[in-house]
Amino acid sequence: MTVMSLLAAGQFYRYNMTDLIEALHKNKDLPDAELKTIIENGECEQKLFETADSVRRSYYGTDVYIRGLIEFTNYCKNNCYYCGIRRDNQKVERYRLGKEEILSCCKQGYALGFRTFVLQGGEDAAFSDELICGIVSEIKKLYPECAVTLSLGEKSCGSYQSYFNAGANRYLLRHETANTEHYRALHPDSMSLESRKQCLWNLKKIGYEVGSGFMVGSPSQTTECLIEDLRFLQELQPDMIGIGPYIAHQNTPFRDQKNGDLHLCLRLIAILRLMFPDILLPATTALGTIDVQGRELGLTAGANVLMPNLSPVNVRKQYELYDNKICIYEGAAQCRSCLENKVEAMGYHIVTNIGNRKTKKIYVN
Ligand code: SAH
Repeated sequence: MTVMSLLAAGQFYRYNMTDLIEALHKNKDLPDAELKTIIENGECEQKLFETADSVRRSYYGTDVYIRGLIEFTNYCKNNCYYCGIRRDNQKVERYRLGKEEILSCCKQGYALGFRTFVLQGGEDAAFSDELICGIVSEIKKLYPECAVTLSLGEKSCGSYQSYFNAGANRYLLRHETANTEHYRALHPDSMSLESRKQCLWNLKKIGYEVGSGFMVGSPSQTTECLIEDLRFLQELQPDMIGIGPYIAHQNTPFRDQKNGDLHLCLRLIAILRLMFPDILLPATTALGTIDVQGRELGLTAGANVLMPNLSPVNVRKQYELYDNKICIYEGAAQCRSCLENKVEAMGYHIVTNIGNRKTKKIYVN
């Protein structure tokens, strides 16, 4: 067939997309213009997802790692325009879990097969470094073979170091967006992209396994912003990349902004798998919130981690970062078995080791 007849048949474009996907697969990178085409174009999604899934299977087989998420405080000193637990949301009832409550979440989680506990919260001064260190070291004492992940926002290098010394292994801190102006549009002046990035570099230097990431479809985000996110992640080389769609929360200044798009999010998951073949890539709760099948689709597009909720059911509704967050009425055991069914139905399997990049199995080289 000639180029003209391919064009006439509308196939030239598709042929080109396939080449782009193959080039991304092979080189683990593409120039900005080509990345833009893949990000924006839904036409060859199936091919993109299949390629990402084959890469995921070559590193992790059908294994899905699970992390037990404990949302231990919804107090926050920050005022991010998108977030439901921002300081100025006076409609949310605030809560803090005590050390014993956190430990009881771990106990329940351990019995359910969780070997990683993620302590996530707003930036809450009531949790002093001493208190955090006490909680971390107690979890490590009770469950020495488990990994403790913290996600408490921006802290000083000294604080990060003290949590690490107390036994914390991993830290999750999404950069949210790597474009300075976009960062400004999402956050008040008291916050800056520069300090967010500095925190990530500090965490790496200390020796944490670091997770970063960004929201997809947040207000005023452009494809160029997304490309900057990918470039920043190439620089940072984190162990985990968490992305999820932006979802409006009714009590934030962004209440009327439109939600992120499921398919754009799935394409980015697949692109991340191709750019960072052995990365830990969660199919997030936000993805499961914009679409009932969101997390399952995330797995088939290259994701290999799930982070079900272990928080006590009575506080879950209050950790509502965005409207209609899923899994706020189910207990931990229910969440675990519901996810197990979904994962098995897609042909993957939940595994209960601590699951990091060092424990991955190489199925094919
Ligand atoms: N205080 C911690 C934890 C933040 S909550 C920190 O600063 O890292 C975890 C993540 O939820 C955030 O990093 C953000 O990317 C995401 N999030 C917050 N509000 C959201 C919204 N409205 N829609 C989608 N994701 C949101």
